[in-house]
Amino acid sequence: ERCVVAVDGPSGSGKSTVSRRLATLIDGIYLDTGAMYRAITWAVLQSGADLADPEAILKVAQEVDLSIGTDPKAPHFEANGTDVDAAIRGPEVTGAVSAVAAVPQVRAMLVQIQQDIIAGAPRIVVEGRDIASVVAPDADLKVYLTASAAARAARRSAEDATDVKATEADLARRDKLDSSRKTDPLKQASDATELDTTGMGIDDVVTRLLEMLNS
Ligand code: C5P
Repeated sequence: ERCVVAVDGPSGSGKSTVSRRLATLIDGIYLDTGAMYRAITWAVLQSGADLADPEAILKVAQEVDLSIGTDPKAPHFEANGTDVDAAIRGPEVTGAVSAVAAVPQVRAMLVQIQQDIIAGAPRIVVEGRDIASVVAPDADLKVYLTASAAARAARRSAEDATDVKATEADLARRDKLDSSRKTDPLKQASDATELDTTGMGIDDVVTRLLEMLNS
C-alpha cells in the first residue's frame, strides 16, 4: 500500500529526527528537502556566485550534480562528487540558504525532483516547509510540527554544539526570511494537522504520527 507522509515545520521543531524514525518504522524512504536547498547553497558558495544575483544562483543550481540520499538511517548527500553532510549543517550554508531558497526557479527545479522521487517510492516520509502545500498536496498524512522558540533553539544547539542564544537569534532570522519573502512564502497548509512538540519526547511524537496514520 502506498504511503506518503508530509512533515513540515521550522528548524528545531524535531522534524528531522521524527521523520527519519517514522520512515524506518513504515519501512519507507526519507527525503530531507531542507538538505537539498542546503546542498545547492553549498555549491553556490563554492562557486563564488553573488548571493544577490538570482540568475547566477540558478545557473549553479542547474549545473550542480546532486546525489540525494534517502536511507532514513543514513541520508548521505553529495554535491559534485563531494561529501557535503557536515558542510551543509555549517554556519556559512545556514547563513545563506534562505537567499538561495527564495529564488523561484530554484524552488521549481527542486520541487520537480522531489515529486519524481515521491512518485517512485511506495512509502516515503518527506520533510520540509512546503511539502503539504506544494510538493505533495495529496499526501496520506500531513503534519505541521511546531515548538516554542526556546525549545527549538535548545534542540538545534544540542545537535550542532552552538550557543543557545545565538541559535535562537538565527532561527528567528531565518523564520522571518522564509515566511516573508514575496514569491512563494512558506505557509502552513490549511489542512495539515498541527502538533506542538514542546516538552514532548521523540517517541511521543512518533507514536502520535503513527496513530494519525492508522486512524
Ligand atoms: O529545514 P532546514 O533548516 O534544513 O531548511 C533550511 C532552509 O531551506 C530553510 O531555512 C528554508 O529557507 C529552506 N527550505 C525551503 N523549503 C523546504 C525546505 C527548506 O525553502 N521545503
